[in-house]
Amino acid sequence: MAESLHDKILALEQESRQLEPTGQDLEKLTNQVIAYGHHYLNNVDNLKAYDKDFALNNDLLAAGFPEKGKDIAQLLPIIEQHVDKPGINPASGNHLGYIPGGGVYPTALGDYLAAVTNQYSGVFYAGPGAVQMENLVIRWIADFLGFPAGSLGNLTSGGSIANLIAIVTARDAKGIKSKLVEDSCIYLTHQAHHSVQKAIRIAGLDEAKLCYIKTDEQFRMDTQMLEKQIEQDVLANKKPFLVIASAGTTDTGVVDPLDQIADICSSYNLWFHVDAAYGGFFMLVDELRDKFKGIKRADSLTIDPHKGLFLAYGLGAVIVRDVAALQKTHYYMANYMQDAVGDSHEPSPADLSPELTKHFRGLRIWLPLQLFGVKPFRQALLEKHYLAQYFYHEIRKMGFETGPEPALSVCIYRYNQNVSEANLFNQRLIKRIQDDGEIFISSTTIDGIFWLRIAVLVFRTHLKAVDRLLALLREHRDELLKLEE
Ligand SMILES: *Cc1c(COP(=O)(O)O)cnc(C)c1O
Repeated sequence: MAESLHDKILALEQESRQLEPTGQDLEKLTNQVIAYGHHYLNNVDNLKAYDKDFALNNDLLAAGFPEKGKDIAQLLPIIEQHVDKPGINPASGNHLGYIPGGGVYPTALGDYLAAVTNQYSGVFYAGPGAVQMENLVIRWIADFLGFPAGSLGNLTSGGSIANLIAIVTARDAKGIKSKLVEDSCIYLTHQAHHSVQKAIRIAGLDEAKLCYIKTDEQFRMDTQMLEKQIEQDVLANKKPFLVIASAGTTDTGVVDPLDQIADICSSYNLWFHVDAAYGGFFMLVDELRDKFKGIKRADSLTIDPHKGLFLAYGLGAVIVRDVAALQKTHYYMANYMQDAVGDSHEPSPADLSPELTKHFRGLRIWLPLQLFGVKPFRQALLEKHYLAQYFYHEIRKMGFETGPEPALSVCIYRYNQNVSEANLFNQRLIKRIQDDGEIFISSTTIDGIFWLRIAVLVFRTHLKAVDRLLALLREHRDELLKLEE
């Protein structure tokens, strides 16, 4: 007689139970992963900040996707060798390039718990505590930024998606339907992060007029030029609707004159978006709050906890003053969601973002803030600011040219004395630092000038790393100067 359906199901149950390690197997698996993590952390100060050696033809490729599972002890060396070693080390305190972050350890514990329980934070009815936690985190951020009570937003995967959510919300709130796109105007500067242009394109606003406003000698938006440009566009029957300012630019870390921009936006009834992905958390530091005057007047704001709050990658946030506008753009009702409607005491993230089923991101930020308290974050941010200032003064003593004194924790600098071709000299200088790999720095080009750049934002970066970089820069600069002779 053929096997009954009943027997087939029981046979398959035996197989599918392999997906649930239990007892000693569970313990052994977890312990080996934890041992790897601990070893990594105990050794992180000895790792290179940058390792350029990588070959695609490696054990990762060879591992394939086998029918039969393997032991974790076989897999960890592959991860160590081919994933964790090559490239820039984002956990390293010697990572002083781009906008780093570091990854405080409780982020991992929060993610661990979120994944083990697989809590759902998309809809209040399904995960009331998880949704409440996420909304509390967003309100805490809105609060220290000075946004009015009632502002809310969304925890995103990062700043790029936060910018996208803000821009589509602005588009809808200002009634920019497709027929109007060609006449509509968006104002920003060349110092805006490229994720802004990307978001504008994804939002279907590629044909809008992008007005790049001149910057002053500190690379901040020139508000007189902004107002002049808006006037011109209004007279030409265009539809100005959105100004995008930066609170901490990627190139030089400066903050646009937010209060004056807010004045202009309210005069002309424009949506005011602030990209504070990098700079926003410096608002936690009393000594630095003045630099952000006017930030609380924004209609929407992007901020990245995986940068300024030192969390591991995977957390940005958007804050929006008019929650109804945010909801209007993102709300959707489907028949199969009917149980989710009703007596919702908390707005649901699924109504305020493009996502439905999503990572429970609240725990990875709530847990570190509870465990450490907010104070060490404030102190670490002030330390990073002082480190950038210290670097600025020391590198000038070494004869380097610099950009503006660091407003937050980015500094641009270049060597330009007795060298035949300054751009080339500085390109050679950074190549030497990167090839060496002990410390990682990046560069940028502004108006045709090649600048070296440091961004101090890994929580593990302390005075020693900055002093070591200064020594390396001196050493390689001197060697290159000898070659010039
Ligand atoms: C990093 C950054 C972004 C993009 O954020 P992601 O988290 O990388 O997606 C946007 N704007 C600024 C100013 C940034 O520094």
